[in-house]
Amino acid sequence: MNYFSTRDKSLKFSFKDIFLRGLAPDGGLFLPSEIKKYNQNEIQNLGKLSYSELATEIIFNFCKKDIERIKLKSLIEKAYDNFNNKEVVELKKIGNINLLELYHGPTLAFKDIAMQVIGNMYDYLQVANKKKVNIIVATSGDTGSAAISALNDRKNINVFVLHPHNKISNIQRKIMTTIGSNNIYNIAVKGSFDDCQKIVKDMFNENEFREKINMSGVNSINWARIICQIVYYFYTVLKFNNKKMNFSVPTGNFGDIYAGYIAKKMGLNINKLIIATNENDILQRVINTGEYKPDQVKTSFSPSMDIQVASNFERLLFNIVGEDDKRVSLLMQDLSSKGFFKLSKEEQEIIKKDFCAEKINNKDTLSLIEETNSKLNFILDPHTATAVGAAKKINDLSNTIVLGTAHPYKFLDTIKIATGQEVEKPIQLSQIQDKKEKFDIIENSNSEVKSYILSKIQ
Ligand SMILES: *Cc1c(COP(=O)(O)O)cnc(C)c1O
Repeated sequence: MNYFSTRDKSLKFSFKDIFLRGLAPDGGLFLPSEIKKYNQNEIQNLGKLSYSELATEIIFNFCKKDIERIKLKSLIEKAYDNFNNKEVVELKKIGNINLLELYHGPTLAFKDIAMQVIGNMYDYLQVANKKKVNIIVATSGDTGSAAISALNDRKNINVFVLHPHNKISNIQRKIMTTIGSNNIYNIAVKGSFDDCQKIVKDMFNENEFREKINMSGVNSINWARIICQIVYYFYTVLKFNNKKMNFSVPTGNFGDIYAGYIAKKMGLNINKLIIATNENDILQRVINTGEYKPDQVKTSFSPSMDIQVASNFERLLFNIVGEDDKRVSLLMQDLSSKGFFKLSKEEQEIIKKDFCAEKINNKDTLSLIEETNSKLNFILDPHTATAVGAAKKINDLSNTIVLGTAHPYKFLDTIKIATGQEVEKPIQLSQIQDKKEKFDIIENSNSEVKSYILSKIQ
């Protein structure tokens, strides 16, 4: 099995290549040439495995040429030792909502589940053995802290994290800026997450700069993130005895929900994947009108979903246009030259077979948090609240699993507005208030960010 680009199927890369590069040289995203398909018997048998064993089984399919199975198993086990919950994730029944809590890692968001494994993969693949690797990552609030936690103090690795200045929660920022090792640099960009992501993508496409700094990336466009996230879809459906389930997923960059789509391709019993969006509803619009047209980013209560350019959507595009790389290239060209692209009616129908989308506005997000607290005595974080809202609209709660993507403490100001209550501080963050923050504020400019990076690595 090799990897290719969504914009050029003839390119061939190994897992190690794509792990290190993140983004294909032509600006496309990497996809594997084969996806393992399990039959129902095999899937039933996976139900006997522990979370780490299941993760080894699923992830191995995608990296077997580069990582031995036994090594993979040990690096996964080591990664999940850092979690508060032995089985990594926790399935709860809150009233009639099936909630899958994905936030028991060190930085209290689902991003830890992939990032802790990826941190160990860097060591194992020895990518930083000879030359220092500089990892550049854009964050809408949670990826940055998960990356810092996973890569802090690793030998021969620097991490540069770009976050949108004043557009993430205070706790999200504090987790990132107080870890403070010498290999970590926090950059607050005067712009939106989309601006941060564009700066990072553009740097990846500048060969000379990329090679000069030996650049690598761990954003959700990195395929390694996706494969780690497939695991909990399997884990949960198996907990329901392999019954066909819907998943409601708080969606921003389309990485988490795309992992669910791959799980379905691998044979897992999934009915609908419900895209929950906030006021930044580009994905809801593309599904209902066929037009993919980024708008101005709106600030919401769920900052990690304040995204208009959902990068991983390009992977789904490739799947729905009959794996036609030329068509993907054309659509992406339209996007950059005209500011939008338009899908055909047929293509739209293909998406609708597997996905539906619901937008939850700011007001409804607050009332969902308030109502769940007063009626069920459970505090939802604002991202998870959008997924609860979307699931309720579909009206099939008993067959739906809602992904809980962050701990409410990360958004305590919003919780306070919604419920008037404080959120108890989780033990992972017991020390955070006393530590000094370290970050630099920089203009929304590719060249300024580049010179900042160069000045730090001299
Ligand atoms: C990143 C994030 C999301 C969005 O996930 P995508 O993979 O970007 O769609 C949702 N909720 C929280 C809390 C997040 O950190």
